[in-house]
Amino acid sequence: MQNYLHTIIEEASLDASEYQWKAPLRDHTWFKIGGFADLFIQTDSILKIQTILHRAKQYAIPIFFLGDGSNIVISDDGIAGIVIDTKTLQKSSPISIISSSEHECQIIASAGVLIEELVLFCIEQQLEGLLHFFGLPGTLGGALYMNARCYEGEIASHFIEATIIENNEIKKHSYIPDEWSYKLSPFQKTHPLIVNAILQVRRSQHPRDTLLTQALSYKQDREQKGHFRYPCAGSTFKNNRAFGMPSGQLIDQCGLKGMQYGGAAISDFHANIIINHSNASASDIYHLVQKIQAEVYQKTSFQLEPEILFIGRGYTQV
Ligand SMILES: Cc1cc2nc3c(=O)[nH]c(=O)nc-3n(C[C@H](O)[C@H](O)[C@H](O)COP(=O)(O)OP(=O)(O)OC[C@H]3O[C@@H](n4cnc5c(N)ncnc54)[C@H](O)[C@@H]3O)c2cc1C
Repeated sequence: MQNYLHTIIEEASLDASEYQWKAPLRDHTWFKIGGFADLFIQTDSILKIQTILHRAKQYAIPIFFLGDGSNIVISDDGIAGIVIDTKTLQKSSPISIISSSEHECQIIASAGVLIEELVLFCIEQQLEGLLHFFGLPGTLGGALYMNARCYEGEIASHFIEATIIENNEIKKHSYIPDEWSYKLSPFQKTHPLIVNAILQVRRSQHPRDTLLTQALSYKQDREQKGHFRYPCAGSTFKNNRAFGMPSGQLIDQCGLKGMQYGGAAISDFHANIIINHSNASASDIYHLVQKIQAEVYQKTSFQLEPEILFIGRGYTQV
């Protein structure tokens, strides 16, 4: 594989500043866990990325698209092949307004833009609709891939169209309601690179200060709930309302709050959040997830489905 990786670097004409061998990934994740990427690429050139994707496919080199690393656990043994940092893509033109009417507005943003930057842009332009996402960790690409949701709103409600790279082609993928549901997006089936996306928002009658205060209230709510107290990846398991209660409540009622495995623990402030409380490994997180699933199943016959993604060597994705 190493020879192929060298060839890809040459063929894509990557500058020395655009790639790194054996790059440590833990600081690119919110869990602060994970091994190395064989080859880590940070470029803003879509043309170079296209070449990389094309050649990687030809040489059967695995590729992982990294957002802000807020919903993933990276294997202690790292990720084989190439990791592309989407936060550097199209950095020169991150967000702009593409159409505007009296009440509505469409914005286009690079997939690597952080959700917080996106909301701040909206506030600056006196646009509303996305304020409740302020405080949600991650990039726009990650939010679309995961169909992130909070405060009863999901990103799919604003999604119009994305530019993606799939099978070496740059394509448009428009919103089709049937393709989206709770924590599911069409991108989870086909794994394209999301390059940018168009979102629908509303013109606001409120002054910027009011919009900022509203946005900050959502982040403050998260702070009060303890979201940022320890390295974590938010909710560990999806909620299945069919069961009649959120997963956190289910785990709590099974008496599992505070359960530990190595350096990983169920937080004492939210039973659906696993924290890295003392140098946890990916393996600690994995084993704790399995322990929780087994205990909950034994007590309730209900199978919890993880929301966090295990990525890299030893796991199913890449
Ligand atoms: C403290 C905390 C609170 C959280 N609260 C919430 C919450 O309220 N609601 C919620 O839904 N989630 C929540 N999360 C989870 C997380 O914030 C979201 O899932 C977020 O949208 C992930 O974005 P990311 O950029 O970090 O993606 P990553 O974690 O980097 O990646 C997640 C997946 O998206 C894919 N991906 C990322 N970017 C691209 C791209 N450009 N093209 C193709 N694929 C891509 C990756 O390959 C990976 O499979 C929380 C996490 C934390 C740490």
